[in-house]
Amino acid sequence: MKYRSTRGGAPAAGFEDVLLAGLAPDGGLYVPESWPRISAEEAAGFRGRPYGEIAAAVMGRFTGGAFTEARLSEIAREVYGAFEHDDVAPLVRVGEEDWILELFHGPTLAFKDFAMQLLGWLFDDALSRRGERLTIIAATSGDTGAAAIEALKRCRQIDIVVLHPEGRVTDVQRRMMTTVDAPNVCNIAIEGSFDDCQAIVKALFADRPFAEKVRLSGVNSINWARLAAQTVYYFTSVAAIAAQGEKVSFVVPTGNFGDVYAGYAAKKMGLNIDRLGVAVNANDILHRAMSTGAYAPAAVAPTFSPSMDIQVASNFERLLFDVMNRDAAAVRGKMTAFARDGEMGLSETERARIAEDFVSCSVNEAETLAEIKRHNEETGALIDPHTAVARHAARHLRQAGALDGKIVTLSTAHPAKFPDAVSRATGVKPDLPPAHENLFDLPEAMARASADKEAVKRIILDRAAGAKR
Ligand SMILES: *Cc1c(COP(=O)(O)O)cnc(C)c1O
Repeated sequence: MKYRSTRGGAPAAGFEDVLLAGLAPDGGLYVPESWPRISAEEAAGFRGRPYGEIAAAVMGRFTGGAFTEARLSEIAREVYGAFEHDDVAPLVRVGEEDWILELFHGPTLAFKDFAMQLLGWLFDDALSRRGERLTIIAATSGDTGAAAIEALKRCRQIDIVVLHPEGRVTDVQRRMMTTVDAPNVCNIAIEGSFDDCQAIVKALFADRPFAEKVRLSGVNSINWARLAAQTVYYFTSVAAIAAQGEKVSFVVPTGNFGDVYAGYAAKKMGLNIDRLGVAVNANDILHRAMSTGAYAPAAVAPTFSPSMDIQVASNFERLLFDVMNRDAAAVRGKMTAFARDGEMGLSETERARIAEDFVSCSVNEAETLAEIKRHNEETGALIDPHTAVARHAARHLRQAGALDGKIVTLSTAHPAKFPDAVSRATGVKPDLPPAHENLFDLPEAMARASADKEAVKRIILDRAAGAKR
């Protein structure tokens, strides 16, 4: 299994190189040279089997020779065995033909654990084989940082540095990062916004002498291995609810276009998926692009669903690559024009191709709170604001005739991670699960820095010097 860059300027690479690099050296994103296939019989046979076994079978298609299926099975058993729910990714029926897929039973209560936990082990194996160390740096609006720290804290060959915008993540999100007591974890609160954090990360990667000195790498959702791991729950869902040959649609709360693209990848592998619903909040660039053809970022608006407060959806480039007939030169041209003009247009043909697989819906703040309330009144259960965006979109898309048949809505975070929005909508404050009960009693550790690349660099270099002594 080989991977190539969407922009065509990097040599073909194997899974392990793609895993460790994240971004391709020409600034493009890695995609498989051709889609691996899983036959209808094999996919149907997943029904009732343990999640970890299915994960190993599906991931094995992407790893090629880099990891044996036996090793993947061991890792997957370890990772998913530690999830709070026996089904790992349980489906809850909420209507005649509607289900919610709960993806928040991992250690940091958001779907990011599914891929990040696996990545921790894959990194560990790969770096041990190579005798190398890495510094992983991540900017977070809340969920990615906690998932990355939890996944990488036991990796001897990795230092993990997480930047979060001071005062702009929820207390639960911050404490899940800052109360982890491990020598290789460094949290930095940045006096600024999430965009400032992301700009610092990009500037540190661009500072080649520094990046090479500390061997900088990243784990955000441009890393192919994360998307590969996220295809698995699409397979388990279809196996659980579809009759033979029956198609299922999914509605996915979307920010960076990672999770919903994983659904698209599963479809390309042969899974019986009808359509994928792209559900966005007020930061609706993807909905506007799909409805009008204009891919034009606006200013980021803070919402109740902060993990989707993103304007440039990085993984969209991977879809463009397919939509543009896998013509890397054409994609490079489009992305260069986008960088120059700050926007790009989709042709009628490109939009029509996208519409074969995707529909979209944008959901405002009032609709988000109303959906949390409605869901609570109808089912007695609480959902988080990201899930509410998707659930509202699913109902709307069905009513509008854009989706029919069986629909699975992805539930990406536990309601207790967003207690303010949930209690504002319902008057009920969601409880943290038992494993996190003492979160507010543990001491926090973090550095602070101004929104300045040099300040962050100094902290990282000081830590590296301290570790050597
Ligand atoms: C990251 C995140 C999303 C968005 O996922 P993408 O892969 O960026 O589209 C949705 N919901 C929650 C809770 C998240 O943490």
